[in-house]
Amino acid sequence: MLADYVPPYSATAVERITAAGGEIVGKANMDEFGMGTTTETSAFGPTRNPVDPERVPGGSSGGSAAAVAAGDVELALGTDTGGSVRCPAAFCGVVGIKPTYGLVSRYGLIAYANSLEQIGPIAGTVEEAAELLSVIAGPDEHDATTRHDQAADARSHPAAEADYAAAADGDVTELTIGIPEQLFDGADEDVVDVVKAAITDLESQGAETRSVSLPSLEYAVEAYYVIAMSEASSNLARFDGVRYGHRSDDDGDWNASFAQTRSEGFGAEVKRRILLGTYALSAGYHDEYYGRAQDARAWVKQDFEEAFTDVDVIASPTMPVKPFRLGESLDDPLKMYLADANTTPVNLANLPAISVPAGQTDGLPVGIQLVGPKFGESTIIRAASAVDT
Ligand code: GLN
Repeated sequence: MLADYVPPYSATAVERITAAGGEIVGKANMDEFGMGTTTETSAFGPTRNPVDPERVPGGSSGGSAAAVAAGDVELALGTDTGGSVRCPAAFCGVVGIKPTYGLVSRYGLIAYANSLEQIGPIAGTVEEAAELLSVIAGPDEHDATTRHDQAADARSHPAAEADYAAAADGDVTELTIGIPEQLFDGADEDVVDVVKAAITDLESQGAETRSVSLPSLEYAVEAYYVIAMSEASSNLARFDGVRYGHRSDDDGDWNASFAQTRSEGFGAEVKRRILLGTYALSAGYHDEYYGRAQDARAWVKQDFEEAFTDVDVIASPTMPVKPFRLGESLDDPLKMYLADANTTPVNLANLPAISVPAGQTDGLPVGIQLVGPKFGESTIIRAASAVDT
């Protein structure tokens, strides 16, 4: 749909990187409109995982993570609607941060599901990812969700006082780590072993662990997909061949040309989601699907809030599985959706999370996810930097 599209302005995140002296060397491959967990649904074809070219790099920001893992670039950006920064970071053995909703401006980002997504950094180390986060975070008059306190000046934004790179000091003494069994049950055994070993190592450095219960998470991935697809069906209505993007040669009436443009311009996964999202929002089904998903979302938020009265961070495997073989999940969308079980709850609750390499199994990278309370970026960066060392 947007293969030949040249946007008339740059995203705020990109402008800030350029202003800070960074050089943008290219656009990275990704699942079409961010819809995927493997980068195989890209209109340009799949990206391979530099660690093992027969495996996927994760998604949807797989091109970004692969470019960092391959050493082509030092830093990259991704967007995380339901895990698309953390998943490819985990699968490629690099670091990815999904910021708290409202920390980073989404101005210039092509929307998939506005209420869930944030732009986030991908890098080889926790410190570098944190440094990039400092550059892109902060209030932006073009994105009202970044205006933490509209009555006060920019200093009221949580990013204004924070030095994220300085937080990567590796000091986890007195840090309390919550362990939610819900996010370990059902994960591959060897993945769990690697993550548990990383947690044991944090304990040996002075951290304390405590088990936490998040019963709502059983419904999170289902709620996520209903909400994400519903928002997508509305967002993607703008790609009509009139405003911008692909336009079919069909000279028929408005309806015929709209349908033809969208049939040609969208890939199969995007069409599937527009259809499902439209269905979930339709009169008669709205309460049964979208309404109930919103109830589940409220429950997930509440569960996390309660857990964070007791612990500083919550640890789990980032992905419950190892990187898929190319093609393995393409015929089975449900399998692909379920792989997002550990990342999507964080977006539903609008919280920050980081994925950092915890070790390897069968020569494949395993990521540990550390989730923090709202605007607790410094805490998860500090904890992750102790895993890094
Ligand atoms: N895999 C999830 C999805 O397809 C997450 C995508 C994302 O974070 N952009 O919806």
